[in-house]
Amino acid sequence: MHQGLGAELKRIAFFTLICLIFGWLNGYISWTLIIGGGLYMGWVLLQIRQLYLWVTSRRREPPPDTVGIWGEIFDNIYRMQKRHEKERRRLQGMIRRGQQTTAALRDAVVLLDANGGLNWWNQAAETLLGLQPIDQGHPLVNFVRHPSFIAYFEACDYYEPLDLPSPRNESKQLQYQINRFGKGERLVVVRDVTRVHRLEQVRKDFVANVSHELRTPLTVLRGYIETLSMSPDLNPVMNRAFEQMQQQSDRMNLLINDLLVLSNLETDDSERNQQTVPLKPLLNIIAADAMALSDDRQHNVTVNCDEDIALIGNEKELHSAFSNLAFNAVKYSKPDSDIKLTIAIDESALIFSVKDQGDGIDPIHIPRLTERFYRVDNGSRNSDAGGTGLGLAIVKHILLRHDAHLSIESKLGKGSTFSCIFPRDRYQVLKQETLEAAE
Ligand code: ADP
Repeated sequence: MHQGLGAELKRIAFFTLICLIFGWLNGYISWTLIIGGGLYMGWVLLQIRQLYLWVTSRRREPPPDTVGIWGEIFDNIYRMQKRHEKERRRLQGMIRRGQQTTAALRDAVVLLDANGGLNWWNQAAETLLGLQPIDQGHPLVNFVRHPSFIAYFEACDYYEPLDLPSPRNESKQLQYQINRFGKGERLVVVRDVTRVHRLEQVRKDFVANVSHELRTPLTVLRGYIETLSMSPDLNPVMNRAFEQMQQQSDRMNLLINDLLVLSNLETDDSERNQQTVPLKPLLNIIAADAMALSDDRQHNVTVNCDEDIALIGNEKELHSAFSNLAFNAVKYSKPDSDIKLTIAIDESALIFSVKDQGDGIDPIHIPRLTERFYRVDNGSRNSDAGGTGLGLAIVKHILLRHDAHLSIESKLGKGSTFSCIFPRDRYQVLKQETLEAAE
C-alpha cells in the first residue's frame, strides 16, 4: 500500500479509537462516532475546497500547508506543474528558435494543408510570393497562377524542381520544390535562382556565339585546304599534310555543327513545330542512311515497325536523335553484323530501340555516356569512328523535349541496345484514311 495512504488509514484508525474511548466514557458511543465521522468529512471537504481554489488560481503560488495524504497530493501536483512549466518553456524556446531560423532563410518555406491551402509560411514567402497574413487558408495556386505551376502542383510528381518567372516580378526566376509529408500535407520551398539562371544563359549564349563565329573562318580554311590539296605538283609529304589538315578541319566542322545543334535545342521553344510523324518512313530513311555510312563494311540494317504508328513531336529533332543512335551502331560494331531498328508499343509507352552486335560498353561508362564530350577511351576505336562525343548529349536533349528518356543496355563483347522511351500521350496509332492521305 502507498506510504501516504497507509499513514492516513492509521490516522483514521487512531481517531476512531479516541472517539470510541470518548463515547464509552460519556455513554454515547454511536453519537460520538457519528460526530467524529462528520468532523473528518468536514476536514476532507475543506481540503477539497483548498485544492480547487489553488488549482484554479491564475497565480502560480506554492501549495497551502496541510498534513497527511492531502499534503502529499498538493506536493505531487505542485511538482507536476513545475515539470510541465519547464517542458512548456523548452518547447516554446524550440518553436521560437525554429521561427527565427526560418525567418532568417532567404528561401521561402510554405506549409500547405491536405487541400493545398496555405497553413504557415516564413518571411521570405511574403517577399518572394507576396503572401499576407489574411491569405491564411487560401489555395497556393491562387497566388502562383502560372499554368506550368498548376500542372506541376496537380500532377503530384515532385521528383524534379520547377523553374518559373516570379509571379511578382517577371525578371526574377524562382525554383519551386514540393515535398509531401503527413496526411497529404505539402512543404513548398521556393528559391530565387535568378543569378544561376543568368549565368546559365550567359553560358548558352557563349557556346552559341563561339560556335557561330568559328564557322565562317573554318569555311574559308576548308575551302583553301580543298583547293590547295588538288594542286598537281604536291610532293608526298605535303600531300600527307593536306590530308591530315582536311581530316581535322572536317572533324572541327562536325564539332561546331553538333555544338550549334545542342545550343539550338537549349534555346528553342520545345513546343514549336510539333506534328504527327509516321515512324515507318522515317526509320526507312534512317536505315538507308546508316547503310550508306556503313558502305563497304556491309552492316545489315533492318527496320521493324508497323505502318500505322506515329509520334507527336518535332520531325527534324526525332530524325536527328534516331539517326545518331543508328549511326553510332554502325560506327561501333563490326562489319557484316546486324543492326535492328525496332518500334514496340504497349498501353503506357512507345519504345524505339537500336540493337547492335558491336563491342559493347563497360557498365562503368554507361551513366556518363550522355555527358557532353564523354567518350569511351577504347584504344584506337574512337579515333577510327571519328565521333565528337556530343551525339548522345544531343539525343538526351531531344528526348527531354519529347518527355522521353534514354535507356542503355550493353554487355562487353555482346553488343548494345539503346532505347528511347516515350510516354503514352506522345504516340498515336493512325487510322487507315490518314495513312492513305499521307501517301
Ligand atoms: P561519339 O561522337 O563519340 O559517337 P556519342 O555521344 O554519340 O559520341 O557517344 C559517346 C560514346 O559512347 C562513344 O564515344 C562510344 O564510345 C560510346 N557508344 C555510343 N554508341 C555506342 C554503341 N552503339 N556501341 C558501343 N559504344 C557506343
